[in-house]
Amino acid sequence: MDLPKLAIAALGGTVSMQARNAGEGVIPTVSGETLLACVPELATLARVSVETLGLLPSASLSFEVLLSVLSWAKYQVEQGARGVVITQGTDTLEETAVFFDYLWDCDEPLVLTGAMRSAKQAGADGPANLLDACRVALADSSRQRGVQVVMNGQIHQADCVRKTDSLALQAFSSPVFGPAGLLVEGVVRYSRPPAERRCLPLPQHTTQKVALLEASLSADTLLLENILKLGYDGLVIAGFGAGHVSASWAEVIEQLAEKIPVIVATRTGSGSTAQATYGFIGSEMDLVRKGAHMAGFLCPRKARVLLWLLLGGERQHELARYLTT
Ligand code: ASP
Repeated sequence: MDLPKLAIAALGGTVSMQARNAGEGVIPTVSGETLLACVPELATLARVSVETLGLLPSASLSFEVLLSVLSWAKYQVEQGARGVVITQGTDTLEETAVFFDYLWDCDEPLVLTGAMRSAKQAGADGPANLLDACRVALADSSRQRGVQVVMNGQIHQADCVRKTDSLALQAFSSPVFGPAGLLVEGVVRYSRPPAERRCLPLPQHTTQKVALLEASLSADTLLLENILKLGYDGLVIAGFGAGHVSASWAEVIEQLAEKIPVIVATRTGSGSTAQATYGFIGSEMDLVRKGAHMAGFLCPRKARVLLWLLLGGERQHELARYLTT
């Protein structure tokens, strides 16, 4: 039987980590080939090619690295891959997923996965996650869905998924919307049709800087006041509640929003920012009047990715189109 082609890339993360010596902490050393060897069943599903594109903890991935991984993934599709799987660290998975999703204009699925337990740990989840991710990448029902994150038997949409637990096996969730699907006895089941997608062209620049500041009780305005002086081109605020800040922050945001795009998201971890509910100084209605954009359901970190990509393509004027409440 002519099996479909599947391309896998390893970038590092816990899934690729083990300790060099007993008692030492785990570090990324396990290649893509070694990961693949833990999942012999894959050979019955696809003709698999695997590359180790990096061995980094995911905190040290950069947008530039992601752009080169993206071009590798697109090349795999041009060469006939039915789908592409990337293994990486889970700490920044929610950001890399949405980064790729904004730029992934192929019908073929791009699936990200990782592990919460390192390669040699008892009950390591890496092999099971990798096998599930490959099944999702090969499924016809995954086509035209953009980028999916597969962890612990669940399939999460890139724009919804968040890491919501630091160490638990069930570390990923999609607040409000829930997972887009799951795997049942190895079969891929989606619970909703593909969402409408809005892709962006590749950024022409990569030097733009977007700051992310979190509102907190009784916080001073020192950092905020120096954002322009420090050379930032855009700002995301993780605001209180439905997207709120203090009166003193609101005053500085008004000045900043005249010069650079400012997005206000919610720091709560779930739900949308408001648009037309509160009217006090520092509320969403006040901030919109002052020129800020509300992030809607986009979490602060994903909003920062979006703004970086828009600035990189000089499309910041299109920001409102990409923020839905
Ligand atoms: N704890 C992380 C992981 O799950 C480390 C990283 O993000 O690279 O992979």
